[in-house]
Amino acid sequence: MLNESTRIGPDDPRYLAAVDKQFNKRYRGIPDYVRLVCSVDDVVSAVEDALKEGRRFVVTSGGHCLEGFVSDPDAQVIIDVSLMKRIFYDAERRAVAVEAGATVGETFRSLLETWGSVIPLGEYPQIGMGGHVAGEAFGFLCRQHGLAADYLHAVEVVTVDESGRASPVVATRETSDPNHDLWWAHTGGGGGNYGIVTRYWFRSRDASGSDPARMLPRAPESITTFKAEWNWGDVDRPSFLRRLQNHGIWCERNSGADSPNASLWALFEIHRKQFGKFLIRGVSTAGAGAGRQIEDHLAAVGEGVRGPNDRELTRMSWLEFALNPFPDLFAVPPGGVSSKVKDALLRKRFIDRQIGVAYHYLTRTDHDVMGGLFGLATYGGRVNAVASDATAAAQRGSILDIACTTGWVDPRDEAKNLAWVRSFYRDLFAETGGVPVPGDVYDGAFINHPDTDLADPAWNTSGVPWHTLYYQEGYRRLQRVKARWDPRNLFRHALSIRS
Ligand SMILES: Cc1cc2nc3c(=O)[nH]c(=O)nc-3n(C[C@H](O)[C@H](O)[C@H](O)COP(=O)(O)OP(=O)(O)OC[C@H]3O[C@@H](n4cnc5c(N)ncnc54)[C@H](O)[C@@H]3O)c2cc1C
Repeated sequence: MLNESTRIGPDDPRYLAAVDKQFNKRYRGIPDYVRLVCSVDDVVSAVEDALKEGRRFVVTSGGHCLEGFVSDPDAQVIIDVSLMKRIFYDAERRAVAVEAGATVGETFRSLLETWGSVIPLGEYPQIGMGGHVAGEAFGFLCRQHGLAADYLHAVEVVTVDESGRASPVVATRETSDPNHDLWWAHTGGGGGNYGIVTRYWFRSRDASGSDPARMLPRAPESITTFKAEWNWGDVDRPSFLRRLQNHGIWCERNSGADSPNASLWALFEIHRKQFGKFLIRGVSTAGAGAGRQIEDHLAAVGEGVRGPNDRELTRMSWLEFALNPFPDLFAVPPGGVSSKVKDALLRKRFIDRQIGVAYHYLTRTDHDVMGGLFGLATYGGRVNAVASDATAAAQRGSILDIACTTGWVDPRDEAKNLAWVRSFYRDLFAETGGVPVPGDVYDGAFINHPDTDLADPAWNTSGVPWHTLYYQEGYRRLQRVKARWDPRNLFRHALSIRS
């Protein structure tokens, strides 16, 4: 029996809201209907109904996929779990349960207000937990606490067997669990691959006792944010080079697992010169030592060159920050933006040739790309305290997360934006076929920031397949999980695991 009340067709006022909730406006789905589900039983029915009808389905939670995996014109049904958002302590599992439809912001709020604790989730509060955690989830606190996936104790997933029967399964971190591999696949294997996640449970690996407030890290007592800006007009090629060299050296020296500066997260945010913004922003959780830590960081980046024109430091509660971090960084115009994000993880800082490439793409005047941005975010710290095969998040030796990104509003601007961002990234990684091939210098890329170009031989000439860039040695294990739990390959997209 179909549950008509949750089946949202194109003439329902909720249809457009559900289909258009995807953050990246570059893609647009045209499903026959959206299925709003409220329980595990609803998810099972939604999947089985779509199968009986012979309709291809995809799942969404928060709608923050950067590629068109949900907004796929071939998807005839979108199963939307965003109404499933309970967060509670599960005494039996001694872990905090978070349903897949909760957002990052809702999770931060609930953890803080109920237990004073935190999971090191991502940077944008509207992201949905469903896709986010399965893709490993890095964020402002990852240098201090690691990845959100490092706290994943168990996961409940609705999977579909060979006969087309859907059913929920719980997979845990316990190595004795016969479903252990399915848990492992949800610690960085990526969303939309094995089934529909309905619930995650979180607990620190070393948590003992039964006090819910001690199951996860304590939230920061306060946060100090900072923003320091230079005038782009004053930045010439030599001083650009020096600042990025200095920045890279700081990251090399301060990204070890036990670095005292793991409490600092900073983003070097360099917009195209025509837009005028050249700045560093970040957060420190060092409490009374935050001001000094930030000044030391800015001094290190500015060594031998002119310091920033001004700086703003603001102290606030963790929750106030987490629910609205850096409003100007994440501001989008009404109607949203189309975007392309190309990430890479670095184990060593950029060499001068690469910094020269960045300078060229950020200042060249033959590409009229207003939304172009080069970001270099601090990484490492406690992320690097975990073995690369302990979770499916293989990148455990990086010091920097860099991104070439662009955004546009008018569809006519797509081609020039894509040309700029793709060739910028390709030229950065020219020595390794246009992509950050894992090795001594690079550590591949994040599946939470998927980039289908990595699977395109026009943009990846390295001979190293896209799945090695994302999963390294873990891909074969993910393939076995896929073969067991999704034998019909029902959960698929452009970068899904092939069994
Ligand atoms: C503005 C912005 C900021 C971001 N910042 C960060 C960040 O700081 N750190 C970080 O790690 N990532 C970040 N991301 C990436 C984000 O974590 C991923 O895109 C994540 O997959 C989004 O999950 P979602 O549920 O919101 O997205 P959706 O678009 O709903 O889904 C994304 C993918 O996950 C699958 N999926 C969704 N729900 C489920 C489910 N319940 N079960 C199984 N599969 C599911 C979908 O099918 C799709 O393949 C950011 C993205 C954006 C747009």
